[in-house]
Amino acid sequence: MKFLYSDTQDYVDPAYDFLGDRNPPGHKRYWDDQYAHELMDPAPYDGLLVSMSAVRQAEGVANSKVRYSTSEEQRMLRDGARKFLRYGGPKFKDNMLMGDCGAFAYVEHPRPAYSPMEVMEFYTDACFTHGCSPDHIIFDCDTSNPPRSAMPPGVHDRYDITQANAREFLKITEAEDWPFEPLGAIQGWSPQSMAQAAVDLEKMGYRYLAVGGLVPLKVEVIHQVLKELRLVIKPETHIHLLGFAKADTIHEFTGYGVTSFDSTSPLLAAFKDAKKNYYLEKPGGGLDYYAAVRIPQALENPRLMQGIKEGRFSSEALQKMERLALDAMRAYHRTGKALDSTLDAITEYQHFLIKGNAGGDAAEAKALVKQRDLIRRTLEEKPWQRCGCDICKQAGVEVIIFRASNRNKRRGMHNLGVYHRHVQRTLDKRSSK
Ligand SMILES: [Zn+2]
Repeated sequence: MKFLYSDTQDYVDPAYDFLGDRNPPGHKRYWDDQYAHELMDPAPYDGLLVSMSAVRQAEGVANSKVRYSTSEEQRMLRDGARKFLRYGGPKFKDNMLMGDCGAFAYVEHPRPAYSPMEVMEFYTDACFTHGCSPDHIIFDCDTSNPPRSAMPPGVHDRYDITQANAREFLKITEAEDWPFEPLGAIQGWSPQSMAQAAVDLEKMGYRYLAVGGLVPLKVEVIHQVLKELRLVIKPETHIHLLGFAKADTIHEFTGYGVTSFDSTSPLLAAFKDAKKNYYLEKPGGGLDYYAAVRIPQALENPRLMQGIKEGRFSSEALQKMERLALDAMRAYHRTGKALDSTLDAITEYQHFLIKGNAGGDAAEAKALVKQRDLIRRTLEEKPWQRCGCDICKQAGVEVIIFRASNRNKRRGMHNLGVYHRHVQRTLDKRSSK
């Protein structure tokens, strides 16, 4: 099972100055930055997925998820995604580079943002090895398997559009002599309707199917979908899971003959999860998680800035506490001593992150104790000193500090590496049984 990372221009500056908290003079975003596969050996994934909606602005689509500038889009299409992502050379030339439409970006619209022709041309110009047909997300998956007639017309439309697009997409990809391996995207309102969609896609000629709309679904529902699918499709048909957000349950899904899946969740957890910010493999298998130590930049943190503006906090005092917390954390890393005073310095500063929350003093005190317990465990067990990955070797204690993109994304890249190894070991175990 191949793990693909869904890239959203995630790179960091290898020359970032952690002590001064700045890039070196003249630093050029992207050009001087490096992707995880450039910083880490082995690379922390088996392939990359790029969503069209992250690259190209669609006409009439508000809430745009576009992350590429126009000139970046043009360069990707001129040079190909492999060169743009610096994911080529002997090391990576055979790795998967998949395109999809990023259907969540236009989910509110009655029709997908791009036509099958536009999508096919985009994948071809970007030189993807694999490309998914343009789908339209159906949100609810009803495990009681209601018939089509019980569903509202909007759901029929989405189902029919996804199937019609897949048919046209396959036809024009064939006419271009297969510039990439096409994947038929599956959407449905229930496990059985998704299985029916899969069978119809197979009949059209697809050998690789992409199961979409998984992001909001519960793990049990995903199991039901895959069970229904496997009952009716050919054993040799490949399955890709699009946007598999329940990354830490992937070991449960090894029995369905899944060829590949993509996820961003190990990277995002580094700075979006409340407490599972740093991944580490348990000695006996499985993943362990640690809270990162939040020491945000006083003058960049919106909550702290608000307090300063309203005159509730003094910016000098905050910056002094911030400095003390950072110094304490680094000294603790070097010496392993004075755990309690390190905790004090950090929580004194963190108090200001919690102050003013709804719930009053009692809730504040409770939140602070909770945060302190989480940090205590991280400090006691020093997970960042137990990881030998390229990121942790280079960044040291900075990787566990929750503070601005260069630390937070590094921690995310480390998580990808841990996760990738976890997936590989899980699969090894299965195949040796
Ligand atoms: Zn690491």
